[in-house]
Amino acid sequence: MAIQCFFSNFAVMNQTDRIVKGRFAPSPTGRMHLGNLFTALLSWLSVKSVGGRWVLRIEDLDPQRSKRVYSEMIEDDLLWLGLEWDEGGLDDIGESGPYCQSRRGEIYEAFLEKLRETGFTYPCTCTRADIMATQAPHQSDGRVIYGGTCRPDWLPCIVEEPVCPHATRLWVPDREIHFTDRVYGDRTVNLATHCGDFVVRRADGAWAYQLAVVVDDALMGITEVVRGEDLLLSTGQQLYLYGLLGLEAPEYAHVPLVCNEAGIRLSKRDKSMGMEELRRRYIPEELLGLLAHRAGLISEPRRSSLDELIGIFSWDKVLVPGRL
Ligand code: GLU
Repeated sequence: MAIQCFFSNFAVMNQTDRIVKGRFAPSPTGRMHLGNLFTALLSWLSVKSVGGRWVLRIEDLDPQRSKRVYSEMIEDDLLWLGLEWDEGGLDDIGESGPYCQSRRGEIYEAFLEKLRETGFTYPCTCTRADIMATQAPHQSDGRVIYGGTCRPDWLPCIVEEPVCPHATRLWVPDREIHFTDRVYGDRTVNLATHCGDFVVRRADGAWAYQLAVVVDDALMGITEVVRGEDLLLSTGQQLYLYGLLGLEAPEYAHVPLVCNEAGIRLSKRDKSMGMEELRRRYIPEELLGLLAHRAGLISEPRRSSLDELIGIFSWDKVLVPGRL
């Protein structure tokens, strides 16, 4: 497909009167748990309560960990709860496909080329060990900040591509990026101290989440992103990419992560909150009631229908941080 085609497609959608479109973008690396469902439900309600459309995008960029069988289970679990998508999924319903990231390499390639043209990308041959050796001793949250070993001194970055395997990094400025999240309010991120120059394509050729998510949300005409709070600060990287690529950014609503009894965020290994166990214990209306109660939409957990929840949904009722 020609590069021109991607950009002209985008131009058609890049209008201020875009219809409200949300998305759920799971990584098929395991079966969903209560937390994934919580995000999916709020994302679905947010668009359905205003007559918008919902996209299911399969984020299977990691070839080692992504499995088709998990994508199938994700679809089955969403449908069991009644969360139907208008676009996307394994059947590629809609005009903006393919909806599995593993099949969108050509598109990412075209946008990487556009990024290269900005002069802000450069090749990086650092290994993980090289990067760890330059880390300040205590990043309490485990974040890795690129120390800049391969960073050119000048912009635009004019560096010959080495023949050995290399990642492509994006130069980031030392300045604050401000954004307003629907749930977490005004936020500020300085990419230089948050992550440093970040990878847009890995040395093994795999596409980085940050580039793929921006390109996909833009080309799929997504107007609002609802996702877990663990991605709140990566919004800074994404807004930076939107700016460089000249794409229109969506609005963001990050929702608190659901934790297990020990107060640790759920993982796909927490079987007691996994879909298999949840489907054994509850009927869909009971689970919807539990999720709606957790979100602050109803005052006590009771059986609820999606139609009822569409009628009462509003972000004002939902999720004051710290309440969950
Ligand atoms: N694929 C990511 C996940 O499953 C979500 C990314 C996003 O919503 O931007 O956690």
